[in-house]
Parts: sequence; C-alpha cells; structure tokens
Amino acid sequence: MFQKILIANRGEIALRVLRACKELGIQTVVVHSTADSDAMHVRLADESVCIGPPPSRESYLNIHQIVAACEITGADAVHPGYGFLSENAKFADILAAHNITFIGPSGDHIRVMGDKIEAKRTAKRLGIPVVPGSDGAISDEKEAKRVAAEIGYPVIIKASAGGGGRGMKVARTEADLEVALQTAKSEAGAAFGDDAVYIEKYLEKPRHIELQVFGDGAGRGVHFGERDCSLQRRHQKVWEEANSPALNAEERARIGGICAKAIADLGYSGAGTIEFLYENGEFYFIEMNTRLQVEHPVTEAITGIDLVHEQIRVASGGGLSVRQEDIKFNGHAIECRINAEDPRTFTPSPGTITHFHTPGGLGIRVDSGVYSGYRIPPYYDSLIGKLIVHGRNRVECMMRLRRALDEFVVDGIKTTLPLFRDLVGNPDIANGDYDIHWLEEYLAKED
Ligand code: ADP
Repeated sequence: MFQKILIANRGEIALRVLRACKELGIQTVVVHSTADSDAMHVRLADESVCIGPPPSRESYLNIHQIVAACEITGADAVHPGYGFLSENAKFADILAAHNITFIGPSGDHIRVMGDKIEAKRTAKRLGIPVVPGSDGAISDEKEAKRVAAEIGYPVIIKASAGGGGRGMKVARTEADLEVALQTAKSEAGAAFGDDAVYIEKYLEKPRHIELQVFGDGAGRGVHFGERDCSLQRRHQKVWEEANSPALNAEERARIGGICAKAIADLGYSGAGTIEFLYENGEFYFIEMNTRLQVEHPVTEAITGIDLVHEQIRVASGGGLSVRQEDIKFNGHAIECRINAEDPRTFTPSPGTITHFHTPGGLGIRVDSGVYSGYRIPPYYDSLIGKLIVHGRNRVECMMRLRRALDEFVVDGIKTTLPLFRDLVGNPDIANGDYDIHWLEEYLAKED
C-alpha cells in the first residue's frame, strides 16, 4: 500500500479523495494555487504545497510543478480527481517515468479513449454496441453524404478530439450537411487543434446512461451498475440517479456484463465509465471516461462500496476487493450538483458564502469543500457541493431529497438549489420520465 498520496485537484473532489486516504491510513499531500490557500482540503491535509498563481494552466495543470511537489514531499502516488490532469496521458507517462504511481489507467488506455474515433473503434472491437456511423474520420462532403444516406437522417457530426459538447453539429437533411460539416470542422480545429470529424446517426430522444466499471489491470473486470444522467443543460449533467428509472434488472445485467468483459479484455486498470445513449431498449456507446466521475457517489450509495478505496487498492497492486457477485444494488440514490450560479441564467455567482448549512439525517450525504465565510474564487468551475440522497426505493429517495433541499442553506451567493426544489416537485421527474432534452425544454418553457 502507498505511504503518501498527493492529490492533484481542488474543491469537493480533493476533500473526497483525502477522506479515503485518511480512512486507509495513508498520508496526504495537497497542492493548491494561491487562490486556494484557505480551502478545506488544504486545511485538512497532512502537508500542502503551493504550486502557482490562480490560473489553472499555471497551477493545477502545471505538470512540472506537481511532479516537483511529489519529489519534495516524497509522495509515492498521485490521485488526479476529475477534470484537470485526470485524463492527460502525458501526465500519467511522466509520473511513471518518475516512479510515481498515477491512480488511474495506463497512459495508453487514456490515449485510446481520449480520441473519440479510436475509442469507438475499440468499443466496437470489444463487443460494445455503438451508434451507427462512419468507420473513422470523414474526409470530404461526398463521403459524408454517402454515409448519411446509408444510416439515414438526422445525423450528427462530431469532433474526434471533442469534449464538453463542442464541435457537434446536427444535419436533418442532405441540404444541411455541407454547412454542418464545415462548421463542425472549423469549431473542432479552433477548439482542439484537430479538425478530424466523424458522423453518427442522431438519436432524437435518448437517455444518457453510463456504466461504472473497474478493471484490476490483470484481466479481471467488474461493473457497478449504471447511472442515469439524462438531466443535462448544454451537455453538462445537473442531476444523476442510480439505478436508472428506465432499466430493469435484466437489461442492467446484460449491458453490465458486456462492459465488464470489455474492460477485462482490454486489460484496463482502475475506474472507468462507459457512456451510452439509450433509446427504444438499445444502448449506443458514445465515449469512455478513464477516471472517477463527479457523480460516482450515487453508485457508492446503492452498492455501499467506496470507489476511491477501490481505485487506491487497484493502483497499489492490491486488486479489487469485490467480485461481480459481491456487488448488490440496494435502493435508489439521486445526486444534485449545487453550483454557484444563477438558477435560471446559469451565470456564475462567485463571492463570499455568508452562511452555509447542510442537511442531515438518514440517507443524506453532502460532498462539499466550502464553509460559512468561504470566498469562492472566480477562476474555477462553479460546483460548490453535491447533495446525494439514498432511499430504499425511488419514492422514498425523492421524499427525502425534497426535505433535504428545504434544509439546505447557502447565503451570500446564488446557487442552483431553487432549480432542484422545482424539479423535485415536477410530475415528469417524479415518474422518471425524461430524456436528454427534457431539462432544456423545461427551462425554455419557464422563461
Ligand atoms: P463530449 O465529449 O463533447 O461531451 P459526447 O460524445 O459525450 O461528447 O456527447 C455529449 C452529448 O451530446 C451527449 O450526452 C448527447 O446529449 C449528445 N450526443 C452525442 N452523440 C449523439 C447522437 N449520436 N445522437 C444524439 N445526441 C448525441
């Protein structure tokens, strides 16, 4: 087991990882920018190293400074959290070259899944169902037209290097295709420095369902069930559930089995999430994230398994603590992402939190790095906390969520709490009847 882990992140996830390390008796080092000197994870860590000024590229993305911090403090492993360097293959390679363990998969696996065309090809080879579309990058309009005619309109053009929903364009007819192709290519070129695009069938009313998987790096793979993250705004997840209200146990076991086997065959090590669109009973792979996800606590709530403990165990060579048959799904969990944003316009609302009171009681978990008097710096994303609620079934979970939202107090800034108070009373949400467009349509109606 590791002696000392350096946490290369900030906010709630830094604290989340720190808690797991403490439980396992591992010493912790955190790195932080000058804007985060008074952050909770800095206060609670055994050691901290300031690695630079507020802008991320000069601090949380500064590989050189982070490796130096490992060497100065003698950390033998790095947990990257999510975002920042968590899916940076070069970072994983550099740490390996310094004999420091990256708590995550190999650089090569990160690389394959980071290239969407390569990821889709790999998924297909491993027997994972994919969205019908082009085999690789589209070279010109003629090819685009041919593929689109084959799979049928509407189609979506997507950037191979894509991320954050950028570089995606829908074409409903052949007449739209030329413009969609050109715009997707130029957006992709500008955003990612790579204008390779590919084409896929556009699904009209899918749900976003993702499978939590784990590999031990030695040919064993398991799945921890799915999360339904269909409630999104601008491709950003807002509310996540486990299990999905749309799946039954048989469907879960089938897609879970396919994913676990794929992870085993790949020789993958650590946590991963295989994301699908789900429509009319069919799953369509869209991408794989090679890291811990923001929404991992809903899976922890229904399985009772600490996924960060598992990540640390696997990375240290200790293997997984569970076999597939040990993983049981118990009740229902929902996570609400509480952002420092206006609940209608979603413009960021940094500033000082004058009063912060979190709900409690059975089945309630709040992961947050903020406190009364904390000043939210304007440099980073606006997530200030996550409310995770567990119940024996979805109805009990929703009852408890409604009560917990009423108890939650964040004064001094705007937050997305009022949005969740509205959602929890909505009949579609109560029935679990929503797809990936539901939230945007709802917000448009409210305006
Ligand atoms: P990114 O990495 O940029 O987030 P994804 O491939 O994960 O891109 O897709 C993000 C979102 O875009 C999906 O959650 C879904 O809302 C939408 N999307 C992607 N592919 C399709 C498709 N083939 N049909 C319909 N919607 C899609």
